[in-house]
This record gives sequence, structure tokens and C-alpha cells, in this order.
Amino acid sequence: MIRFARRMQKFCKSADIFDVAVIGGGSGGLAFALEGAKLGLKIAVFDYVTPSSQGSIWGLGGTCVNVGCIPKKLMHQSALIKENIEGSTPYGWTPSEQEQVNWEILVENIQNHIKGLNYGYKQNLQKSGILYLNELATFKDNHTLQYGKMDDFKSNDINKLRELKFKYCVISTGGRPTKLQSISKYAITSDDIFSQTKPPGKTLVVGGGYIALESAGMLKGLGYDVTLMTRGKYLREFDQDVVKMILEHYQKYLSVNIVPESLPFHSELKDDKILVKWKSTVNSQEDAGIFDTVLMAIGRQANTQMLNLDKLGIKVNPNNNKIFGNQNGEVERTEVENIFAIGDVLNGIPELTPIASKSGQLLAKRIKLLIKGSYSQKEYESTKLEYNDYPTTVFTPLEYSFVGFSEEQARSKFGEMNIEIYHSKFVPLEEQLCDKLDENYELLQRKVYVKAICNVLDNNKVVGLHYLGPNAGEVMQGFAVAIKLGMRLDDLQRTVGIHPTNAEEFVLLKVTKSSKADFEKHGC
Ligand code: FAD
Repeated sequence: MIRFARRMQKFCKSADIFDVAVIGGGSGGLAFALEGAKLGLKIAVFDYVTPSSQGSIWGLGGTCVNVGCIPKKLMHQSALIKENIEGSTPYGWTPSEQEQVNWEILVENIQNHIKGLNYGYKQNLQKSGILYLNELATFKDNHTLQYGKMDDFKSNDINKLRELKFKYCVISTGGRPTKLQSISKYAITSDDIFSQTKPPGKTLVVGGGYIALESAGMLKGLGYDVTLMTRGKYLREFDQDVVKMILEHYQKYLSVNIVPESLPFHSELKDDKILVKWKSTVNSQEDAGIFDTVLMAIGRQANTQMLNLDKLGIKVNPNNNKIFGNQNGEVERTEVENIFAIGDVLNGIPELTPIASKSGQLLAKRIKLLIKGSYSQKEYESTKLEYNDYPTTVFTPLEYSFVGFSEEQARSKFGEMNIEIYHSKFVPLEEQLCDKLDENYELLQRKVYVKAICNVLDNNKVVGLHYLGPNAGEVMQGFAVAIKLGMRLDDLQRTVGIHPTNAEEFVLLKVTKSSKADFEKHGC
């Protein structure tokens, strides 16, 4: 592999021009490159990871593989296993007394798995004839990249930097976690948590987005004491009925300590622990706590500072450094005609792996057409990703998946009077043997919630479908296809259910929210 890279580096010192240079070998960049190579494009991929403030680095594959979806889902799975063990007594098992996960074993196995994926990606690039350069790339002009290691750029030694010429360029540089300066000295982020060998211990998670909630739930599930703090609302853009239920589950079922509407303003080391002080954003009242780990998950900033974009005239959003696309009616096209952006680096699109990778695959087809020069408008249009109606899942211990609008979004888009909501809440069968009690000796059962939001003016077209419960992503993927096909409430209701499952509740929905009738089922 090293020999191959050297050979290719020599090769590109010549005046050779690549069809496409891809900056960033994450979900978007790799999907683009592999699809483009299949279509016969000559492609170079740059991928370079600058260490986190704690020194964490990783291999080829980007955020999802190394510090995102993959390690997160594996840790989530470990937490679910513990939950299942705890609930196993009525099923005839005798659970062990282990309170906390063996963190070292979990991290070692996850990291080994990731290394295998990193290796697989390199192999795939090599087999596809794609030049992979583990170098930091930046624009010299709109047909030339300069590249080298971070130190080469820092030393400003132009002789150390090399150049690569391209016809088209795809920026897929993703993003990194935002830091809260007041506590960043002793805090880690999602860039560090999945590889740190020290168990996190008592943890403060700061943030209100899905990464904060997932991290808090996962760490609690792994047996650690967790405090979750945000300055505003949790999961602001999600359906608030469901968000309320997630938070209730965190407090009642998982005993996560939730500190609402507060912001940390100071941290210091105290006897090897971290003392954090925070202030209420409502009444400025101060409070403090001592933690082993502080995990910041307050948002992400795009990796564009190093790219020299202003030199090319490509504008970024000053709030998050994301690139403004949307030129010529193409979401991924920048102000410079031959330069595109995909994935997390692009302003205004959801930060999700399937969005990055699908837009990458489609863009490869589009650039192939542009290089070929002759194509029909229909062919060209078919290479554009539909950014609406995408399904997604929040991997909180009780998972939440949805497709389409939240209730709040639907009300504002279609009008209060024009939507009808069908919903149901129930204890799933697998939970009905549960014997877990709270401090008041009441049964603690996980409940499933399903909700269909319909546009009355369009013959009850389902414009939002929400599911809170086990295996949420698995449940929702198929329904996402139905939504794409324009499913109406009537289609749901004439579908036969699969019994006994949780997902069958979607085809049994009858109670409307406007009726204010009891939507909680009791019994089978
Ligand atoms: P990235 O995957 O971030 O790849 C960008 C790459 O470019 C990186 O390797 C970066 O180092 C490199 N790079 C940057 N600048 C340069 C440069 N100048 N030169 C060379 N290389 C450069 N999404 C889901 O769909 N489901 C999930 O469950 C999920 N969970 C997540 C959990 C966490 C904790 C996080 C942080 C994210 C999660 N995501 C999830 C989001 C998902 O990981 C991202 O949406 C996805 O990785 C974006 O892909 P990308 O190609 O745009 O960027």
C-alpha cells in the first residue's frame, strides 16, 4: 500500500490532471470516490485527521466510522445488553451482579473493529484505482490543490507542499465538535470518548442535541452516574411529544440527573476530579458539581478554515463555517462552477451519514455527465438527491425514529386546522413480564409511542411518522419507503399487521389527538 501511494505521488507530480479531487475521506467523500471510479472517473481522495485537543486521532473513513455512528451504536448495544440482563429474571435467568461495563474490553474491541474498517476502506480505494493521500489539502486556485502534513503548512515551507490538478473538486471535509471555551480545558468530546482507555466514571454531558442525549443514555446504560445539562430545549427540532417522553424515560427509568436550562461557566481540577460551576439561564442561580469526565456535545463546526475558500470566492456561514451551496438549483454546487460540496460541510442539510453518502453517489453520476458533455435534462435531474422525507433514528436507550414532519413543523406548514394526528402508547409484550420497581414500588416499564401526522387537505396523506421504542430504526426504514410513495392513512389502515410486534400498532391507529381520548392502551 505504501509503495502504491508513493508510486501514485510520483505519478501526480507530473502534469497529470485528475477528473475529480475529493477533499475528505468520510461517508460522503468515499461514497463519491467509489461510485466515480466505477463510472471510469480518475479520482484522488485526500483524508487527513487533525488530532482532537485531547490528542485523539483515527484512520480513513471519517466521523461515522471512527468517532460517530459506528462506535456509538456499539456502545449503545452494550448498554442495551445490560438493560436486557437486568430484565431477565422473569424470563428465567439469574443476572450477574456486575454494575458497570468493563470499559477497557469494550473500547479495545470497538477500536479493533474500527481498525478493520479503516483497512477495508484503504483496500477498496486501492482496488478501485483511486489515489488515496493521507494529506491535508487546501485550494491554490480553482483547478489546483496544495497538500502536505499539518506541520508543512504550519512551517509555511512552500517547498514541502505538493500540488495536484483537477477538473472538478468535491469538498466533503465534514465537521468537528464545537468547544465551550469556559470549560474546554478539562472537557472531552465525541472525538475522544470512544477511544479513551480510562473509564469515564461520573460524567457531566453538556448539550441538548441528539449526540448529547445519546451519549448520556449510553453512558448511563453502561453503569455510570450521568448528569445531562443544556442551556435551552432538548432536541429542539424534533417532535416535542416524543422528546418529553424520552426525557421522562431518562429521569424515571434510567435515573439520569437532568439539569435544565443551565450553562457551565467555569471548570478546574480538584483532587484529580473536575469541579464544574454552572448558572441557570432562567434566573442566573449558580450551582456546582464534581465529575470524573465532562463531555461537551454542543454542536459541530465545519472543517473549512484550512481550505482557502475566501480566495476562491466560496462563502461560508459564519455561525458554523458551513459552505453555502444551492447554486444553479443544485444543492451541492458552490459559487465556483467546478467545485461541489457534500455532507456535513454543506450548510442547511441534515448531518447524517446516509445523506452524505447518497448525495456523494449521485454527484459522481452528475459529474460523469458533465465530463461526458452530452446528456438529457431528465438524466441530469435524476442525479439530484431529494433532501426531504429522510428517515432517521436517535439511539437513546429507548430509541426514537421518524420520517417527515414533527407535529410542530406540520402545524406551521399545513395550518393548525389542516392536520390530524393519530397516536397510541402501550407497554410492549416483551416488557409485560417486567418486575423492575421504582422507589415507590411502582412497576417501571418501557412504553412504546407511535404517531402518524396526516394532512387532512390532501386526503389524509401521512406527512410525519414517529416511533419511540425498541429497534426504532429497523421499524422505520420500511415506512420511509411508504412515505416516499405518498402513503395515506387509509393505506396504513388497510395493511395487515404482523402480530405480536410493536410496529403493528401503526396499522391499528384509531385514536386522534384532537379527540383528546385516552391514547394509552391497557392490556393486549
Ligand atoms: P466526515 O465523515 O466527517 O468526513 C470528513 C473527513 O475529511 C474527515 O476524515 C476529516 O478529517 C477530513 N478532512 C477535513 N478537512 C480536510 C482537509 N483539508 N484535507 C484532507 N482531509 C480533510 N449519522 C447517522 O446517520 N447516524 C448516526 O447514528 C450518527 N451518529 C453520530 C454520532 C456521533 C457521535 C457523531 C459525531 C456523528 C454521528 N452521525 C450519525 C453523523 C455522521 O457521522 C456524519 O453525518 C457523517 O460522518 C458526515 O460525513 P461527511 O463525509 O460529510 O464528513
